[in-house]
Amino acid sequence: MRTLQQRLMLTCTLIAIFTVLVGVLLSSGLLIRSYIRMARQSAWSMQRLALNQLARYYQQHGRWDGIESHLVVASERIAAQPFLPQQRVVLADTDRHIIFDSLGRLEGTPMPQRFASIASPIYVNGQTVGYLVTPYGLGLVDIFSENAFLVSILRMLVVGSLISGSIALLVGLLIARHLTRPLVALTQAAQRLAMGERHAPLTIPADKELADLASAFNIMAANLDRQEELRRQLVADIAHELRTPLSVLRLEIEALEDGVAQNTPETLGSLREEVTLISRLIDDLRLLSLADAGQLTLAPETLVVQDVLARVVAPLVPRAQQHGLELRIVDCSSSNGCAPLTVYADPQRLAQILHNLLENAVRYTPSGGTITLHTAAMPNQYVLFEVADTGPGIAADDVPHIFDRFYRATHARDRERGGSGLGLSIVLRLVEAHGGTITVDSVMGQGSVFRVLLPAAPTV
Ligand code: ADP
Repeated sequence: MRTLQQRLMLTCTLIAIFTVLVGVLLSSGLLIRSYIRMARQSAWSMQRLALNQLARYYQQHGRWDGIESHLVVASERIAAQPFLPQQRVVLADTDRHIIFDSLGRLEGTPMPQRFASIASPIYVNGQTVGYLVTPYGLGLVDIFSENAFLVSILRMLVVGSLISGSIALLVGLLIARHLTRPLVALTQAAQRLAMGERHAPLTIPADKELADLASAFNIMAANLDRQEELRRQLVADIAHELRTPLSVLRLEIEALEDGVAQNTPETLGSLREEVTLISRLIDDLRLLSLADAGQLTLAPETLVVQDVLARVVAPLVPRAQQHGLELRIVDCSSSNGCAPLTVYADPQRLAQILHNLLENAVRYTPSGGTITLHTAAMPNQYVLFEVADTGPGIAADDVPHIFDRFYRATHARDRERGGSGLGLSIVLRLVEAHGGTITVDSVMGQGSVFRVLLPAAPTV
């Protein structure tokens, strides 16, 4: 397969050859035409002059004797003309016998046919007294073949064109090399990336298109690195999360086997708790992976918000009381007696969203605190679910990360209080799947407010 560099070089070569050919043909055609025109003009005026002088000579002397010395001078003058290629002057008498030939070859012989056809008659008082052959009467081939000046100019033209063609070719080759070098670097980097090697970012070339390509590649490579890092981190986090409950399970089972622990309802309850923890973790991970793959299916329907709240809040009330917390519901219908709010959502998933938010509030708010669940109709056909607590708040540095998988803020890292770190990432995925949004406001030492907006049920 031909490389791009070879293709560019071939194109440059063809363009250079074509340019040189066209240049040489056009300029030499122009040169020859102007040369012939000038040569003919010059020869014609010389011929007119020579015919007049010869006629005058014949008139004075009545014959051609002694003309040779004059013609030698005349032919030398013709030879000195810059554009006359053939310095030959031939004079013949009325019988077409050659009297004078400036080259001295044909004197005394009859005029050859090729001269006879181009010879100009010399008139004295209307009578033909002789014939003159000068360069004006010669053809193109004669002019061209015997003119060293013209040939040398043409040679220079060809050589000059070849030199400029070669320079054009060289410049083309350099440009091809310059253009393809970043592409070669890019290909090598892509190959290294495909083999799983890390690589230093590509240097950005000066040309805009290549610079765009290189920076797009750098961004892609950085994203791949990040994805790889996240994947490694995720596997490590899952292993870490599973290790603790599995170790507890193993120890408790070993204690049962060794007879250290008794098979009591408490022991079995503790075992079940660990198994429940593991299966909840696996359920959460499965839900997240479905969301990642875009395969999270929802079965949305019109739900009366009050019913949903009652269903979600009821199971949490005993735990809230146990922690010494007040759990309040403030909704539009309960406070103002307005029409019941309806939302368009999957009942299971909406319950899961609210459960995770309330569960966190209960988990992190210290005893004596208050948790408020507030709902309201919002503009643009949205319903607000707001979970506010009077807990420790979330540090500003942690806020951007709390929706990341397995992320736990510093205050939640002890296992007693903290969960798996998946709750909020599940909430975010479920809210997004419903076409809603979630935001958080938190002040350290005062509490946190999570606001979820979900589409209201369509009005009929
Ligand atoms: P976890 O299972 O650890 O609660 P989440 O994804 O639900 O994981 O929450 C991520 C982190 O966000 C938590 O570890 C905690 O630090 C912080 N967080 C969530 N909700 C609250 C809250 N109501 N008050 C304070 N911190 C919170």
